[in-house]
Parts: sequence; structure tokens; C-alpha cells
Amino acid sequence: MTSNVVTMTTSAAVPTGSEGAIANGGTVTDRLVEANQRYAAEFTDPGMDARPVLQVAVVACMDARLDLHKALGLQLGDCHTIRNAGGVVTDDVIRSLTVSQRALGTRSVVLIHHTGCGMESITEDFRHDLEMEVGQRPAWAVEAFRDVDQDVRQSMQRVRTSPFLLHTDDVRGFVFDVRTGLLREIDPA
Ligand SMILES: [Zn+2]
Repeated sequence: MTSNVVTMTTSAAVPTGSEGAIANGGTVTDRLVEANQRYAAEFTDPGMDARPVLQVAVVACMDARLDLHKALGLQLGDCHTIRNAGGVVTDDVIRSLTVSQRALGTRSVVLIHHTGCGMESITEDFRHDLEMEVGQRPAWAVEAFRDVDQDVRQSMQRVRTSPFLLHTDDVRGFVFDVRTGLLREIDPA
């Protein structure tokens, strides 16, 4: 998440200045579909197995500034990537990690939060405000945090103590600096 976007929009309208399908009055999705046609035209089936080559699952924030594959030198087929707002270890992330380890053979877990995360600027009031607006309290926690290092530690702890996972010995957590591109490792203690 970017740090300054808290409101939600339901509009599929495309910002002015974008290219391709957009210039022809299309939506952003039209643009993605066009790009996919170009991608598929040059695509050759690599004949890969679904099991990640490096036997690693990466859990990261959905932030648009974090290009996981480039930042970590990953190639197609190398890893599982599990992303959400904040890169927090929710029950659903545990679900994905459980499938990743038990059905698809991964053994290592890498957790990545980042500087300037939007989850640092919202609070649990977000949930209350939602309830006031729509008349229904969401079942999920917002999982906002103030201290990114501490949230990485908590995420590592949630993975390490999960009863569902087969491999919890190689779990490491990092904060990605969106300005320098560097990872800073967080001591689990
Ligand atoms: Zn973020």
C-alpha cells in the first residue's frame, strides 16, 4: 500500500496520461489484457513443475513499489509469492503457506515489510469507520501497525508457532527500503 491512500475507489476509470488501450477509451483492465496478448505472443511453455525451484515462499506487502522478483533476483518458477496489505501473517497467509509447504514442497519462508507502508498510517479506527459507513463490522482485523520492525517480528513468530506448517526453522524477516532498494534484516529476538 502507498502511505497516502486510505480511501477506496470503486471506479475503473483510468488516470489521464496513461497509454495504449487507455488512449482509445479503454479501462486499465483493457490495457492489461492488451499487454497480455503481446506477452503470450512471445511466450513459450517453459514446461515447469508447479513446485517452486528454490523451495521458498515469500510473504510481502502488496505495495506497488516493491518488485519482489527483481529485488530478490528471482526467476519465473523460483518461489511462491503471497502478498497482502502490510505483508502481515494472517490466517489466510498461513493457509497459503500450509499448501505451499505440504503440497508444493517449500521449506523456507521470507517475510518482507517495507518503509513508508500504508499500514503504519491507518489504525484500527479504520474498522470502526467502516462499520459506521456500511452498517457491518468486517470479520477481519485491519492489522495496522506503528512499528514496522515489531510487526516483522510478530509475523515471524506467527509463522514459527503455526501448528500447520512442516518447516519453521528457516523463517527470516526483512524491511525493504523503498528509497534504496535494500533489505534490512530484522532480528527475531
Ligand atoms: Zn505496505
